[in-house]
Formats: sequence, structure tokens, C-alpha cells
Amino acid sequence: MERKVRVRFAPSPTGPLHMGGVRTALYNYLFARQHGGDFILRIEDTDSQRFVPGAEKYILDSLAWCGIRIDEGVAEGGPHAPYRQSERREIYLKYAQQLVESGHAYYAFDTQEELASIRAEAESRGQTFAYNHEVRGRLATSLALPAEEVRRRMEAGEPWVVRFMMPENEQVHMHDLIRGDVTVNTSMLDDKVLYKSADALPTYHLANIVDDHLMEISHVIRGEEWLPSLPLHYLLYRAFGWSDSQPEFAHLPLLLKPTGGGKLSKRDGDKMGFPVFPLRWVSPDGETAHGYREDGYFPEAFVNMLALLGWNPGTEQEIFSMDELIGAFSLERVSKSGARFNPEKARWFNAQYLHAKSDAELAGILMPVLKEKGIEAGKDRAEKAVALIKERATFPQELWNLSWFLFKAPEEYEEKGVAKFWKGENPARIAALKEVIAGIDDFTKENAERIVHDWIVAREYPMGQVMNSLRLTLVGAGSGPSIFDICEIIGKEETLRRIDAALDKLGRQAIG
Ligand code: GLU
Repeated sequence: MERKVRVRFAPSPTGPLHMGGVRTALYNYLFARQHGGDFILRIEDTDSQRFVPGAEKYILDSLAWCGIRIDEGVAEGGPHAPYRQSERREIYLKYAQQLVESGHAYYAFDTQEELASIRAEAESRGQTFAYNHEVRGRLATSLALPAEEVRRRMEAGEPWVVRFMMPENEQVHMHDLIRGDVTVNTSMLDDKVLYKSADALPTYHLANIVDDHLMEISHVIRGEEWLPSLPLHYLLYRAFGWSDSQPEFAHLPLLLKPTGGGKLSKRDGDKMGFPVFPLRWVSPDGETAHGYREDGYFPEAFVNMLALLGWNPGTEQEIFSMDELIGAFSLERVSKSGARFNPEKARWFNAQYLHAKSDAELAGILMPVLKEKGIEAGKDRAEKAVALIKERATFPQELWNLSWFLFKAPEEYEEKGVAKFWKGENPARIAALKEVIAGIDDFTKENAERIVHDWIVAREYPMGQVMNSLRLTLVGAGSGPSIFDICEIIGKEETLRRIDAALDKLGRQAIG
């Protein structure tokens, strides 16, 4: 029988979730949904030193904003609750002890200070110290000390750890769904700590394997930085006798800087002006970081962009809804090499989603801004306004800057435009044109445009000069959307008022 697909996203609450982490969650989610499986959120908070208050809530809020729905997790509960590792602490000790009893792990009593001095001593000889098969029989471990001594130390409350007994010189053959077969010799690896008596908590490796097993995880899809841990994880499954049911693994490529070299970091974002976090983050000590949400990205655009960073559909299609991603996603098409982040492309995606929104929806974004500015305008006017300018917008917060002149008259006139157009006979022509406009009964854009156009042509006036002078009177600048679109939206009365105001302010005579 095919195994039920069950995947997990297992972040540690050590700070805001990086967009790379969101991508890991997204790929897990797409894979689960595509296979009718379950998506589990497990919080890996066994490293109390790195715990950051607020980080777990941030993770949950980020996934919710992206539309990633959790089947089992800290908030949802589920058959394997609790889903927060710090609440599962009693579970892990017995598994650590089981490994010691079966000869796959041992107790070690070395203190931090002892280890530091052993390390320093090795360094002074130009060597690097590794806790491995060469030293474990000589240090303060249950392999070196008599059983009696081990018991005595434990009973006296001396802190101990459980270390995995890494086999010596063994080839570990592994399979990764993205990278294919991988073989590593264990001589390269050290004896990792699995459990610490001092805080009665497992380390990542033990808790992760035990929980993936107990939670019946079928596929582990995670970042490439965990690939070096894979041999240990294989050996842990084997030591527990769980190899037959161990999950399949897929390690995702890194997200790289826009310049290509190295991992995408917050510093790159700060330097080049793009967020690397889904939501704005305020750290416990008050430091803040930009978020896609607050910067005006739509979650669908963010998700779409992220999905294509390291995966490609094999077609030219770029715009994907979540449902389309669920249908199209495949681990086979995830690339092995790092995915370079392109901030320009991220903005492009947002613009595509903005342009595809209905006028009613965009008006819904603009209306509160109008209200805030004290402008009374109906939904109808707002819809006409966004329809006219949305193609030039990338972010919703630009709607006002691109459309304000459809709601109020300009208070100043751009110097450059004035110098360029308010000269020669233009002011007099505009004064004359005003009378023409006053006489137009059917003030639709087509009709107004035809009449004004014919009037300019008949007098052999320079078209660009007159039209741009007119634009200056209406919007205060020498560029913007089509003049007659503007006229139609603001109406004849307002058009005439604005021409008058400009003639008053800029003068009916040319300057110089
Ligand atoms: N807690 C690990 C992390 O923060 C999870 C790694 C894994 O998925 O195995 O990335």
C-alpha cells in the first residue's frame, strides 16, 4: 500500500522566519496538497539559548498570510499533539537511553570548560579537535569509565550528555529526491550530542528523528543546510531499527543574493531595498526589519514569486495561483543549484497581481486613503480613477500618488513643466481653449478630444506644446495619463476651474 503523504515544516523559533524558510514551508505544503496528504507544523524549540519571544507567533502569522493552511500543529492540535518540542520533553529521554543500551550511544561527562581546554590544546598543536572514535575511549565517557563510576557521577548529579557513537570508516549510502544518491564516509563525522541532562532536553538531531518517526512523516523537505546532517539521521533511523519506515528526503537549494554569490541575507535586503522577511518584524530589543506584507506585496504575488525561486514548471507560464501551483509542483523540477533572488522580478510579480485586480477591489484600497485625506469621493469615482492609473502601479500604496489629481486640483505646478510649456503664446492659447472647452456639451473623452484636437490643428498650433500646457493646468505636471481621460473623470466644471486657476497663478502672459 502507498504510504500516506505526511510532511512537516519544523522551524525553530529563533527569530523572524526568513523568506527561504517560507519557501520550504510552501514546497512542503504544495507537495502535501498535491498528494492529498497532511501538512504538519512542528515547533522545534529545544535550544533554549536561541529561543526568541514572539518568533513562534511570527511563524504562524506568516504562514497564514501566505495562505498555507496547517492540518496539524501547535494551534490546530492533532493526533500527535503536542507539536511543540519543549512540551514533549519526557518523550526523548527514553529514546536516548535506548540508544545507549543498544550500544549506539554513550554518556559523556566532559564539562564545557574541559572541552574548551582540550580544543585549545589541540589548536596549539595545529590540530582541530573532534569528538569522535579516536577520543571517545579516552575521555570522561561511559565507554572509558567503569560502570560504577558512571553511576556514581550520575547519582551525584553531575551533568552528562548522550552522544551518538558514530561508526568508524563506514560508507553511508543515502538518497535525496533532488540530489540523487549521496555517499559519505563516517570518518568525516563526529559524535553528536543527542541529549543534555542539564536542561533535560534533546538536541535537534534526536528530537527531529524521534518526532518524524512518531508523527509518521513520509517526506522530509528542508533546506540544503541540513544535508550534512543526513548521514547522522540515516544512522539514527538504523540504530532505532526504523530504517524501513524512515522518510524520504529532499534538500532544497539555497536562496542566493541578487549578485549570485552567497546566501541571501537581511543585509542584502537593507542595502538594496527589498525585504527578506514575509512580515515586518520587531525584535524584543526593538530592532525592526521590513516585511513583504507591509511593503505592499500581495500574498499571492509573494507566494508565486517564491514558488519559482528554485522550482520551474517546465513551461513558459509564470503566473500561478496557489491551486495551480499545487497542480504543477514537482520535486523533480526543483533545481540542485542555488536560486538567485531578483528583487526586480519580485516587484514585477506584484505589479502583475495588482493589474489583474478588479477596479472595485483596488477602489476598496484607495477609498480609505481618500477618507484619510479628507476627500469625499464616491466608489464610482474611485473605480474610474484606479482603472485609469493601475497599469502604472506596482504597489497599492502608489494608487494615491498616481491618481490624486482626479480628486483635487493641483496646488503647485512643477517648475520643469512650467519652464518648458508655459511660454510663448501658450498661455494665450490656453485662455482661448478654455472658451472652446466651455462650449462642449457632450463632455465625453472622445468628443472633447476630437473638438480640442480639431481646434488646435485648424490654427496650426504645435500640438505637443498646447496639450502639455493644458495638462499642466489640470495636474500640475508635464506628464500623467491621457488628458481627456482626466477631463472626463473630473468633469467640465472642474476642468474649467483648473484652467482658470492656472491662468491666475501662472499668469496669462508668457514669462520671458
Ligand atoms: N528546526 C530545524 C530548522 O530550524 C528543522 C530542520 C528540519 O527540517 O529537519 O530549520
